[in-house]
Amino acid sequence: MTTIELRGVSKEYKVRDGWRGGTTLRAVNDVSLTLEPGRTVALVGQSGSGKSTIAKMLLQLEQPTSGQILLDGKPLSRRRRDRSAYRHQVQMVFQDPFASLNPYHTIEHHLERPVRLHHPELSSDAVRERVLDLLRRVRLDPAEQFAVRRPHELSGGQRQRAAIARALAPEPGILVADEPVSMLDVSIRLGVLNLLGTLQREENLGVLYITHDLATARHFSDEILVMYKGDIVERGPADRVILEP
Ligand code: ADP
Ligand code: ADP
Repeated sequence: MTTIELRGVSKEYKVRDGWRGGTTLRAVNDVSLTLEPGRTVALVGQSGSGKSTIAKMLLQLEQPTSGQILLDGKPLSRRRRDRSAYRHQVQMVFQDPFASLNPYHTIEHHLERPVRLHHPELSSDAVRERVLDLLRRVRLDPAEQFAVRRPHELSGGQRQRAAIARALAPEPGILVADEPVSMLDVSIRLGVLNLLGTLQREENLGVLYITHDLATARHFSDEILVMYKGDIVERGPADRVILEP
């Protein structure tokens, strides 16, 4: 069970401006949001509004310029062990499934490593059982031998499911899904979004669903935050938020 809160978080990037030196660009301005078990929060907004910057701060790829990130109510500490525990707790599903999969490794190899890291006590057979279980959880039928295939030997939708299994392997409490279906065929998008919804409900995950598609945000989330130029300009229950045309 994990809760992550952004409290009044802002992010400025320093942008080099030719020979004149630098300027700063405020990508995220005073954003507060809470990710908690069994809830999906959607972050919608046009390109450049700051959505990915929020994802990068949640993954600790970037540090906020001001404001706080709290894990289970406590500010993140700088201790190595705490940082590594935090990194396991928040896993990312990227727009491009290849982003989290090495094209030369089998799916099994991808899933085995985090399982072993997490559970060094397990025998090889027990690790393999967990790998098959991860595949079942993302509805990849073990009978189809997905474990021994490499990423390019899967369809786009199957590949995204494998990437989701990779994200689940370290047993995170929170999934950050950044446009998780926008590179997939329209016909299989709902299947992958339904999978994320099922994981959220049945496995009590907290999900941040980043998208510019308000229709799926409505359908698949509990709360919607609308961003515009770094600000949250509107927020509320999924059925109440309306975007100006
Ligand atoms: P979105 O995900 O909504 O498209 P981003 O968070 O990617 O928005 O970008 C918000 C703003 O921050 C944009 O103006 C973008 O150019 C800028 N930005 C993002 N990352 C960086 C970076 N590493 N350095 C400088 N500017 C950045
Ligand atoms: P490599 O095989 O290149 O060493 P790993 O699979 O070991 O890569 O991953 C390196 C780091 O990236 C690990 O800390 C891992 O937890 C993290 N990582 C990998 N995939 C994700 C993901 N989807 N979301 C967040 N962190 C990830």
